[in-house]
Amino acid sequence: MSTAGKRRKPGRSEQRATPSTSAKVRSTHGGLRKTLIPGIPSAPTLIGATALLLAAAGAVTVSAPDSGSRLASGNVQRLSGQASVLSGASSISSNSSLSGRARAVSRDSQREALQDAADEDLQAAAEKQAKERNAALAALAASAEKQASLIAKNAWQTPVAPGAYHLTSRFGDCSTLWSHCHTGLDFAAPSGTPVHAVTGGTVSQTGYAGAYGNQTIVTLEDGTEMWYCHQTTIGVSPGQKIRAGEVIGTVGSTGNTTGPHLHLEVRPGAGDPVDPFAALVAHGIQP
Ligand SMILES: [Zn+2]
Repeated sequence: MSTAGKRRKPGRSEQRATPSTSAKVRSTHGGLRKTLIPGIPSAPTLIGATALLLAAAGAVTVSAPDSGSRLASGNVQRLSGQASVLSGASSISSNSSLSGRARAVSRDSQREALQDAADEDLQAAAEKQAKERNAALAALAASAEKQASLIAKNAWQTPVAPGAYHLTSRFGDCSTLWSHCHTGLDFAAPSGTPVHAVTGGTVSQTGYAGAYGNQTIVTLEDGTEMWYCHQTTIGVSPGQKIRAGEVIGTVGSTGNTTGPHLHLEVRPGAGDPVDPFAALVAHGIQP
């Protein structure tokens, strides 16, 4: 951007101001600003515009008191230099030996340059903001979609449909019936009642397992094992991937039982069993 076309023709009173040294310029600066160029914004206005411009461009921040002291000493060169950096315009006030008139003109074109640069920067900032907002919305939508599919895949549910069972024995119950305390949660239901996968996973083992009767072990993605026991029938095979809610067999009384029920065990990392009731509750299910 050239500043030449924006130079004002020097007025009569302006021609009178002919300081020859920078020291003289400094001393007359205040008077010039007040009497000869009433249209020039006050120092605080310029500072404000510069600060806004710099903030919009993401450049260094100028603190008003600091700039104020520089302006008060007549050092417009610094302000002009900042505008040049932002707008790419070459400034005519970069020469410290310029006359007061040139300095006045410089401030005028500098103000226009600042305004132009501010307009361009504001528009660019608005466009950038719109792009960023669209990108953020797209990312959010993708994330929500992914989350929804994860939830659908990993959502937990009871192994027997709600209303089709009643709980008979809790984790940790001790009885002479067992050689040790209860390691699972019992869902009592008539034989043949469908058994649903509590959550998705891979069938890792099926078959008869002594006191557990007909047993199906499903391994979840995190390594947790789900044991489904005492079934009348087993409806899945090892290696088979299953989704939450999928029917994997039927309730029965095979193994060590006093009546038909599904014995559910939850074993994190294929290790010791934890309370299935608490595990279900932790996954938003109230069994
Ligand atoms: Zn049991």
